[in-house]
Amino acid sequence: MNTKFHKDRLPNPLEYFEQNGFPLVGQGEWRSAICPFHGDTKPSLRVRIETGAFRCLACGEKGGDLLAFHQKRFGMSFKDACIALGVWG
Ligand SMILES: [Zn+2]
Repeated sequence: MNTKFHKDRLPNPLEYFEQNGFPLVGQGEWRSAICPFHGDTKPSLRVRIETGAFRCLACGEKGGDLLAFHQKRFGMSFKDACIALGVWG
């Protein structure tokens, strides 16, 4: 059991995506953004603003929360992504 991981400290998904250069378009629970995982030209990435879960309708990249997104985007380990998002320690 890992006691150093504090998931409750994860940033608000809406603010995280906006602040990291992924403005979310649309309304409701799932919104759209430009996908960073392929050469996207239209917003193909679907993001659930409540949890940060994401799925790209074009390239199929997906994950369950902001940590998964951060890991994939920067090629980080789980721990490094936790540190980067301030939920470790
Ligand atoms: Zn994609």
